Amino acid sequence: MAVVNKKLQAKNVRNLRHIIQAAFFVLVAVTVTMEKLGEAGIKIPILPSGSLHAICPFGGVVSFWNLLNLGTLVKKVHESSVVLGVIGLFLAILFGPVICGWICPFGSFQEFIAKIGKKLFGKKYNNFIPKKIDRVLRYLRYLVFAWVSYMTVVSGKLIFEAYDPYFALFKFWTGEVALTGFIALGAVVVLSLFVERPFCKYACPYGAFLGITNLFRVFGIRRNAPTCISCNACNKACLMNIDVASAKVVRDHQCISCLECTSEVACPVPATVEVMSFAGQAKDSYAEKKASGK
Ligand code: SF4
Ligand code: SF4
Repeated sequence: MAVVNKKLQAKNVRNLRHIIQAAFFVLVAVTVTMEKLGEAGIKIPILPSGSLHAICPFGGVVSFWNLLNLGTLVKKVHESSVVLGVIGLFLAILFGPVICGWICPFGSFQEFIAKIGKKLFGKKYNNFIPKKIDRVLRYLRYLVFAWVSYMTVVSGKLIFEAYDPYFALFKFWTGEVALTGFIALGAVVVLSLFVERPFCKYACPYGAFLGITNLFRVFGIRRNAPTCISCNACNKACLMNIDVASAKVVRDHQCISCLECTSEVACPVPATVEVMSFAGQAKDSYAEKKASGK
């Protein structure tokens, strides 16, 4: 009975995440469609009007410098992007990059392609790149973030639009996507057949920005070592290949707060991988040190 309940609980958490991901995917697709229809003078009152740029929090992040120094936003960026950028950062400081794990439609798209990759390669899927190379490649996204931020500031334009596979995915039919955008999208589709969320891991500038909050977020993933049976189920479940099974707390800059590793989903032992306040961990460490007389 306990096993059945556990499976049901895991299914519920996964389903909740997938429903939220699907809802945001549809919201973005409808917004882009309404934007194009709006340009042709067609409006459907009950459907959202707006634009892809208006609902992108990263536009707010890269506009921040211009806003502070010039009092203006980068071309095409809306005030709503700044508001969303601030909300995204606030959420990340509390819970880590939940936007990546639960909301971003491009993350969901890669997870969808991954289902095909898993069918094709089984257990080999997401384990093709040697760990040493993979570890270095994961810092590439910080170079992308630095380059995009610098170029956006000096040009005053959304420079990443021409290379952004997310933009290409939702706008491929509009005639607004550059060849480089299509190439980026094609590369992500092919890579997603071998690696889980390759764009998030190696290239996404917004993921890089939010990932920094993993170093100081308030609530995070914590493993209770005394109850761990070293089964590695948490490691196998992690979309970002993080070594949860050896961590006390997950501070990895790539964690996307998807909760797949937790005792509510993958870990078979109750209350062993949990979302907890890291402030509590500091208190525990202090208590442990005091008890051991160090
Ligand atoms: S460590 Fe856990 S919450 Fe973080 S990405 Fe991996 S599975 Fe998701
Ligand atoms: S899934 Fe749970 S019990 Fe298994 S290694 Fe990870 S933390 Fe330990």
